Amino acid sequence: MINGELKLNHTIRWAMVGGGRGSQIGYIHRSSALRDNTFQLVAGAFDIDPLRGKEFGVGLGLDEERCYPDYKTMFKEEAKRSDGIEAVSIATPNGTHFEICKAALEAKLHVVCEKPMCFSTKEAAVLKELSEKNNRVVGITYGYAGHQLIQQARSMVANGDLGEIRVINMQFAFGSYAFPIEQENPAAKWRLDPNFAGPSFAMGDVGTHPLFLSEAICPELKIKRLMCSRQSFVKDRQLEDNAITIMEYENGAVANVWSSAMNCGSVHGQKIRIIGSKASLEWWDERPNQLTYEVEGKPVQILERGGGYLYEEAREEDRISCGHPEGLFEAWTNLYLRFAMAMDRIDSGKNIERKDFWYPDVEAGYQGVKWVEKCVESADNDSKWVEY
Ligand code: NAD
Repeated sequence: MINGELKLNHTIRWAMVGGGRGSQIGYIHRSSALRDNTFQLVAGAFDIDPLRGKEFGVGLGLDEERCYPDYKTMFKEEAKRSDGIEAVSIATPNGTHFEICKAALEAKLHVVCEKPMCFSTKEAAVLKELSEKNNRVVGITYGYAGHQLIQQARSMVANGDLGEIRVINMQFAFGSYAFPIEQENPAAKWRLDPNFAGPSFAMGDVGTHPLFLSEAICPELKIKRLMCSRQSFVKDRQLEDNAITIMEYENGAVANVWSSAMNCGSVHGQKIRIIGSKASLEWWDERPNQLTYEVEGKPVQILERGGGYLYEEAREEDRISCGHPEGLFEAWTNLYLRFAMAMDRIDSGKNIERKDFWYPDVEAGYQGVKWVEKCVESADNDSKWVEY
């Protein structure tokens, strides 16, 4: 159980690029990074508008001189200080991630980057190589992976509780883009513009979330090939608002991912169902404290977060006892804690064993980008099968 006792013997000096006033995702980054006293926010280039960014940073309690007009100035000026930043989070629109992440790694900073990490596997390979060369952490905010029941599912699969994994059924299908919302909402506008969003909307924006959950829960499964159909139901959109992907794994298992923004009436609609030869698991992000466990021939069981019957590792990040609901903020906080611990381990010269200590890292960022790239290749070639 996490109770506020310090996990690191120092606080990582941390900054943000983006996530300014009015942004959708800025506050959850700050709230999650700061909760466990592992990070201390000391600088930022929060906004595309320098003046608004400065006002915002001052409003957060930062020194005015450390609220920078842009990330380049911030990296340059902070490098001159003895108390300069050690890590940065990037919470800007997709089209800027590659250049900011690359500049941060070149400045020898640890990075937390929003998904998608970049637009192509070519760019992703550059970032992966740089992070390895400079020995810096890149954490990707696939935030749902921080829910403790995802760890429970991972442990159950590893321990054979489901038997051999045969099918994974995934969706992230919400409804609010079923009409031309981009005409009135700026955050929707850039998401549907390939210059800012990249080669995909629905798959890159939401489909990669359950994809990462499947990788976290079933790390042994490797995609062999996939096929994809993508379409835009709302007229004049340049990017898809709906896509269906079918995947085959090397061991014979199969999966499908429904990525959609026009699932009318659905608030969020992210679900993952893992079907094994003995039992199935199902998790829904709108009820993240429950994991459905169905054993063939037995009544359905609902496993509750924090329950004494869960695997020990699925209870380590609990912040309150069973029955009190935790949510997305706690899941993100768990991830930020893992990011901080990874940074600390690296800075103290220790290795990170992926088997015992996992988080969405630069490889997860790479895999998300690769998946979108392959889906687009298939969809834009009459949904042909594409080798992975
Ligand atoms: P948004 O449009 O609401 O906000 C973007 C913010 O970045 C604004 O404050 C803007 O002024 C600032 N900005 C833009 N360009 C900048 C630059 N060059 N330098 C500094 N600041 C800049 O966007 P959002 O919805 O918050 O999304 C931001 C990122 O977060 C996207 O990549 C998106 O995919 C991702 N996101 C992730 C999740 C998740 O669950 N992990 C959820 C929502 C959004």
